[in-house]
Amino acid sequence: RAKSEGRSTYHFFETGMDAELQQRRSIEAGLRLALSRNEFRLMYQPLLGLAENRVTCVEALLRWDFEGRTISPAEFVPVAEDTGLISAIGQWVLNQACMTAASWPNGVRVAVNLSPVQFRQRDLVTQVRRALANARLDPRRLELEITESLLLGESESTLKALHDLRAMGVRISMDDFGTGYSSLSYLRSFPFDKIKIDRSFLRDLISRPDSQAIIRAVIGLGQSLGMSTTAEGVETEDQLALVRAQGVSEVQGFLFSPPISAAALNDMLQCEEALAEAS
Ligand code: C2E
Ligand code: MG
Ligand code: MG
Ligand code: MG
Repeated sequence: RAKSEGRSTYHFFETGMDAELQQRRSIEAGLRLALSRNEFRLMYQPLLGLAENRVTCVEALLRWDFEGRTISPAEFVPVAEDTGLISAIGQWVLNQACMTAASWPNGVRVAVNLSPVQFRQRDLVTQVRRALANARLDPRRLELEITESLLLGESESTLKALHDLRAMGVRISMDDFGTGYSSLSYLRSFPFDKIKIDRSFLRDLISRPDSQAIIRAVIGLGQSLGMSTTAEGVETEDQLALVRAQGVSEVQGFLFSPPISAAALNDMLQCEEALAEAS
């Protein structure tokens, strides 16, 4: 079709594709070397438990320092998934996150994001078990975050892996809840420990009563199904007050803390411990 619109259009179209393709190829080539070059690091974002009034969980978030800039996972995780590189990268994340979490107070869990592609590896459960053993981390202190897309196929082997992980004591969270096609039906396919309400519902919480109704319903659903709930993307005091009033279990967002370095997180947890001892 582009060709029939004239030669110049055709050329313009091709050049655009070239730039995009080139960018992708450079990310792909860079990704292949990133692990051996130590270009990955994890940032840690604490989640505040509202009943506990302390950090109950910390989400590990991957960063890639490539050619002088930091690339966001939204940009490179899809490429890592397409190329299969996500398996090795995901394994590194698991090991790193478990090791770091082992030095935190016992009441603080670590949350690791898993790609659906990682579930196609036969040894995922073994990888998780090894990461926990290497770090000497209690399995009950690990949460694995999966997205609804994992359950789209709902294959037997995926469900078996999830059940095996849960049998080890690992918790399973549904991430970005509400953004998929049939979120509700997925809650029936597996007994999740936690529902993380997607940030998009928080964004217009104050201005849109329908978002409030949805959040209220999801929190109620979690309560009746015995799943805890986390509100993602809490940025303002108003949002916090609202989700607190609705009975959400945990909040995560820039209001409490953005993702921070392992060292900064350690300081925060130590401060919290000292405060708890003093009171
Ligand atoms: P996610 O798992 O939903 O992680 C939460 C994202 O929301 C993070 O973005 C975090 O920085 C951001 N965020 C937290 N609080 C706020 C807030 O108050 N406002 C706003 N605007 N944003 C907030 P990040 O770190 O860029 O990660 C994006 C996504 O990349 C993650 O979404 C997750 O799906 C994926 N990801 C990150 N690390 C990994 C990883 O190790 N493995 C895999 N497979 N995916 C990962
Ligand atoms: Mg997540
Ligand atoms: Mg999320
Ligand atoms: Mg998200």
